[in-house]
Amino acid sequence: MVDRDQNFINGTWTNPSSERFSSSVDPADSDDVIGEFPSSAASDASAAVSAADEAFREWGRMSAVARGAYLHKAASWLQGHTEEYAQAMTRENGKSIGEARGEVARCVAILQYYGSEGMNPVGEVVPSANPNMLLYTRRVPLGAVSLITPWNFPLAIPLWKMAPALVYGNTITLKPASATPHMGVLLAKMWEAVDLPKGVFNLVIGSGGEVGNELITNARTRAVSFTGSGAVGHNIAVECARRNKKFQLELGGKNPVIVLEDADLEQAAEITVGGAMKYSGQKCTATSRAIVVGDVMKDFTDLVVQKTNALKVGPGADPANTVIPVIDPGSKENILNAVKRGVDEGGEILAGGEAATGNGLDRGNFVQPTVMSNVRPDAFVACEEIFGPVLALVPAKDRAEATYIANNVVYGLSASIFTSSLNSVLDFANDIEAGVVKINSETAGIEPQVPFGGVKESSSGSQEQGKAAIEFFTDTKTIYVDRSAT
Ligand code: NAP
Repeated sequence: MVDRDQNFINGTWTNPSSERFSSSVDPADSDDVIGEFPSSAASDASAAVSAADEAFREWGRMSAVARGAYLHKAASWLQGHTEEYAQAMTRENGKSIGEARGEVARCVAILQYYGSEGMNPVGEVVPSANPNMLLYTRRVPLGAVSLITPWNFPLAIPLWKMAPALVYGNTITLKPASATPHMGVLLAKMWEAVDLPKGVFNLVIGSGGEVGNELITNARTRAVSFTGSGAVGHNIAVECARRNKKFQLELGGKNPVIVLEDADLEQAAEITVGGAMKYSGQKCTATSRAIVVGDVMKDFTDLVVQKTNALKVGPGADPANTVIPVIDPGSKENILNAVKRGVDEGGEILAGGEAATGNGLDRGNFVQPTVMSNVRPDAFVACEEIFGPVLALVPAKDRAEATYIANNVVYGLSASIFTSSLNSVLDFANDIEAGVVKINSETAGIEPQVPFGGVKESSSGSQEQGKAAIEFFTDTKTIYVDRSAT
């Protein structure tokens, strides 16, 4: 008998009105069923938004310092449950246990940062032309906001949205990805444990088409913050624009590294392989292209292939494994199809290229870490997000051409360069079309106290985290107080 979880609406654990449930399965072992989770209906999502809207009346008026105290309490509570949450994450989404522990630690940092944000200014006093006028601005919360999140950072992405949303005075309904509902339940348990007032946080588990759609279109939803694929995000933008709701989209990437001839090749290869293959390339900021300039291609390629072949493939629960299962059988098939297409378009497989099998791996969704060379800049594997452990090596004659190739895709999330030249660093920082720019380091890996987001089709333009989050989760009021009249 597997565990059965519920939605968390208005402070109460409730069955979905449909009384239907579906199961969540360990990506490393399809026989390991994690539990049963609600297949909620639109009416459940509607009840959650109503609860959030009701709760907003008090939560929105509470002092931000008091709201921040809930976040600090949650940070301490979560820190005390690190191992339990990390183990659960590895089991449900396959991530290596080390990365799962790192994700919980990052969530603690996010809660601490935004807990303290409750003590920071939310406006400014501005001189008026009228000496009797007190003129000031004030950031005010929006109201009930809907958060729709992907499976790949099942704690951190919901938290980096909900921590600022809450501290600035909004109330929330979260729809986690259908692949990781248990992590959504664990988030609800955290808020329950710190006695967050009822209705301030609501969880509804169910499909994007039904629950997600209701969260977006409900008249009481003031704003939607979404992270996920471009296809879903673009539709959310249309639905929100139609109803004049605020929306925020953080979408995919096709993140390049550029390797110049003056780079430390050993370091560049080590970091590039890590950025492409850790977590099986399932980070929106994972490295998926290495654009290599001039004569160093052969040496760099040899190092990359050698380091890729040394990686261990297996379940994330074993810390020795770097290349863990991909999220589901459909993703595995899409990744292998993309590799085949890369070969059809002239690419050559130097490492991997197939499903990883044997030693029990057949029970999970394992793909060999794959390196392809001679990839044309306009080939599918060089332009489209694959979200798997696949690295395309693309040659370029000089830095200008490498930058052109790097920019000549629809995405602009993260990018890195390997070089020892200060001028090349500064030119790259100026010329690259990306929201996150790294120098001699991995395209993945971000800190919560600074803004995060992409450009072009990687984002709708409103950034998350750090001080930037206040822009999305608040409106600005401008207040004129004429003291001559009193
Ligand atoms: P996805 O398929 O777009 O799903 C994301 C969320 O949207 C899920 O909760 C999904 O629900 C929901 N959804 C699906 N259809 C919907 C609809 N019609 N209306 C409303 N919601 C709907 O993306 P994913 O496969 O989970 O995540 C991978 C993608 O996320 C990649 O493209 C990756 O690059 C991107 N990502 C971006 C960032 C960033 O910060 N830029 C970070 C991480 C990931 P169901 O699960 O029920 O379908």
